[in-house]
Amino acid sequence: MENRFVYADNAATTRLLPAVLEAMTPYLTEEYGNPSSLYGFGQTARQAVDDARSTVAECLRCRPEEVFFTSGGSEADNWALKMAAEAAARKGKKHLISTAFEHHAVLHTLEHLKKQGFEVTLLPVYENGIVRPEDVKAALRPDTALVSVMLANNEIGTVQPVAEIGALCREAGVLLHTDAVQAVGHIPVDFAGMNADLLSLSAHKFHGPKGVGALLVRRGVRLANLIDGGAQENGRRAGTENTAGIVGLAAALRLACGSLEENGKRTAALRDRLSRGLLSSVERCRLNGDPVRRLPGNVNISFEGIEGESLLLMLDFRGICASSGSACTSGSLDPSHVLLSIGLPHAVAHGSLRLTLSEETDEDDIEYMLREIPPVVRRLREMSPLWEQILRDGLPQD
Ligand SMILES: *Cc1c(COP(=O)(O)O)cnc(C)c1O
Repeated sequence: MENRFVYADNAATTRLLPAVLEAMTPYLTEEYGNPSSLYGFGQTARQAVDDARSTVAECLRCRPEEVFFTSGGSEADNWALKMAAEAAARKGKKHLISTAFEHHAVLHTLEHLKKQGFEVTLLPVYENGIVRPEDVKAALRPDTALVSVMLANNEIGTVQPVAEIGALCREAGVLLHTDAVQAVGHIPVDFAGMNADLLSLSAHKFHGPKGVGALLVRRGVRLANLIDGGAQENGRRAGTENTAGIVGLAAALRLACGSLEENGKRTAALRDRLSRGLLSSVERCRLNGDPVRRLPGNVNISFEGIEGESLLLMLDFRGICASSGSACTSGSLDPSHVLLSIGLPHAVAHGSLRLTLSEETDEDDIEYMLREIPPVVRRLREMSPLWEQILRDGLPQD
């Protein structure tokens, strides 16, 4: 097998599909009319935004008027948490519940709310990376304003029992937000059936364009405006619509939802082949997160005795794009909060590799990764004093 380019970082972002670009192109070129204008020329754009809203509603089982387009997942998460908290504070409710391994768009927003006087309970996710509904139930208090639990984790891919948690929240009269950014377009998402009040999604995680997402807001939930100005998004998020982006989001979602089951099965088979292959050819490594209740495209493996960053650089040299378990983007060398939340020792978390597949990954990509990754791990271990120490004394304790 020749050297190839293998993109295995689909949890970070995905390739825009040509069919999606084609759907968007008219709105970046001839159809530049403002959707809010009164003349006929703007009406094509108006219709496209309306149709996109209906498509989202159809694919995710909600009503069109429950869909609010945003600039992406981070904005949707910020909006949901800040506005729900603000509304609850007016009723004297100042307690928020979430989990230890949420995306930073949620965790950092919670940090912000703490400074505003909110109390935050972060639930554990255990070794398998799954929240327990009974923990949510035990944490609910009369002053709880909101529960926020992600539908699927972005690092280890575990899928959370959000419908069960939603039933508990509904019974207690507490709002439930779910960050479904990793789930939408990859596993079935049923907003109505999930008992969720707020749901975040982002187009670039399912082969749509970057910079566009949505917040679903259940009818009857009062949410303060995010951006004041015009009447767009029912007056709640002003600003001339990103027509092309919105059309692209809907086109990508329609494609993803049309072949969800078939794609999911195929990708999960590739995922399992990749993780089994790595686990059987490299000693002292482990799969992170529940092996079954996980996204079809997520493989997350820790190799003892190596640094994830060095592994990434050597894989990059071999044409493989992947991601590690350290928050190197923030300039710190701390291992990711997600890997620590499932109880990995620091030394193990540091040697983690996330490979995320998509519908576009094929068998040759898997074979290539299975051929290239194990020798790289061995070479790094030969150079690693930590590996020598592990062989001699076992794993260092935190
Ligand atoms: C990518 C991601 C986000 C952020 O979405 P953007 O559209 O990039 O802002 C939020 N939550 C999760 C779980 C994600 O994976």
